[in-house]
Amino acid sequence: DVSERFQVPTQEKGVKLEVESIPAWNVRGDDVALSQLFFNLVDNAVKFTPSGGRVRLSGTANGRTAQFVVEDSGTGISAEHLPRLFERFYRVDPSRQHSPGGTGLGLSICKSIVEAHGGSIAVESEIERGTRFLVTLPGAEAH
Ligand code: ATP
Ligand code: MG
Repeated sequence: DVSERFQVPTQEKGVKLEVESIPAWNVRGDDVALSQLFFNLVDNAVKFTPSGGRVRLSGTANGRTAQFVVEDSGTGISAEHLPRLFERFYRVDPSRQHSPGGTGLGLSICKSIVEAHGGSIAVESEIERGTRFLVTLPGAEAH
């Protein structure tokens, strides 16, 4: 659902959107919130990836948990910022010219949603190479 909402915006920006086969996975929880979670992550990935780059969505399930990955080939985030990235209103370099707008709430909302569903979220990034967000969610049977 979320990847479909980004077909036109990515095409317009010249960013390639790759959607791998994503396992069907039942999570006990709030579908609107879970959509919001992935929407925020893909929104960031597209926003911080210049034209000519790519955003990839993938997932794997292992029986008890599933892991979903949103990765991009964009600007990356330097290591010093990673520990605070999920804090409310935290933005990397908001004063930089041409820095894409935002309130800095997106990732703190992602973290709340993931934790409310018994999961976890992590980030890996390398400056100028790209960023990868990993979301782990337990299956409905785990409750
Ligand atoms: P909002 O989501 O509220 O519109 P935002 O996108 O600035 O605003 P977050 O989604 O919380 O806020 O992200 C916080 C900061 O983390 C961003 O401002 C940006 O500096 C950095 N960031 C998040 N995702 C990425 C990404 N995929 N690539 C590079 N930087 C990122
Ligand atoms: Mg955001």
